[in-house]
Amino acid sequence: MKHACAILLVAASTLRADTTATTTRTVTRLADGIYEIRHPDAPDTFPQSNTTVIIGDKAVLVVDSGLLPSTAREDVAQIRQWTGKPVAYLLNTHWHFDHTLGNATYAEAFPAIQIVSTRPTQKVVAEYNPGVVARYSERAQRFQKILDTGKAPDGRPLTEGQRKDYERSLAGLAPVVAEFKTARQLPPNVVFDRELSIDLGNRPVEVRFLGRGNTAGDAVVYLPNEKILITGDLLVHPVPYLFGGFPVDHAKTLRAMAELDARTIVPGHGDVLRDKTYLFHVVALLEAVNAAVENEVNLSKTLDEVLDTLPKSFDVGTWRSKFAGSSKDEIEFFDTTFEALIKASYTQIKTR
Ligand SMILES: [Zn+2]
Repeated sequence: MKHACAILLVAASTLRADTTATTTRTVTRLADGIYEIRHPDAPDTFPQSNTTVIIGDKAVLVVDSGLLPSTAREDVAQIRQWTGKPVAYLLNTHWHFDHTLGNATYAEAFPAIQIVSTRPTQKVVAEYNPGVVARYSERAQRFQKILDTGKAPDGRPLTEGQRKDYERSLAGLAPVVAEFKTARQLPPNVVFDRELSIDLGNRPVEVRFLGRGNTAGDAVVYLPNEKILITGDLLVHPVPYLFGGFPVDHAKTLRAMAELDARTIVPGHGDVLRDKTYLFHVVALLEAVNAAVENEVNLSKTLDEVLDTLPKSFDVGTWRSKFAGSSKDEIEFFDTTFEALIKASYTQIKTR
């Protein structure tokens, strides 16, 4: 279980877990009866997942429940304006609590709900997430210490951007901790291994596990009639989230996803995508880094050596501007995710 531990440690220590800042709530109608809700970050800047609502003739499926119970309550109220049909299914694409912590709110509103995930996702949500929620208030002390010492958790001096992030997170922590005092991490109660078909009434939905990537159990949702694909954090826009996953598998899983005939792609965070261009950019980045890391591993280099030499021999600047453009925040997030990718790729290639 070496991999799982690495994932948990990385996720627990990462300040901004998923993506660049999102400040407003937006709803995008993807097709008749299908909506994507994009959520503002929590007051402590912790991001919240995108949520997709799929309404059939008989029932409703929701994909990912967000981080804050107050956000999930807002979404439930919105869903009730759209339809009188019950949310019969909630899918957690993976275990990260910004995709799962709203589960209990949905179960209160719709007591017959089935909460669905892969087996690895269910295990981590049940066994790991409750502790993270319980210990969330400890962030105040940790962040204050980082600001006081001027050193990031990895021992390096804080950059100006990191300092501002920690200050913002600390300033907004109290309302999040207050919400989490009453929050309960409800785990999924229905698991699947490879495929699950859900009949919402005149609206077929296919839930699939196409391979590991962002976590050991990422599920995707495909709507064959509407050609809509919902990816969870296997795809995060505009900068990919590559902390602690399985980069070698991730590239293959994205290639398997690309085989699906999709015209609309809903990433785990960020804008709705209208073609596969971005998906293939992420595949190209993963494959290029994996190949470069493999070369270094074949030369018997240590991780520290690879972290030092790879960015010098690799055309990081081109990739950075492709994903992050000229935005300072996104450039900083790209550099963090890029370093995390090298680490995760090294770990996976070294241990296989
Ligand atoms: Zn996420």
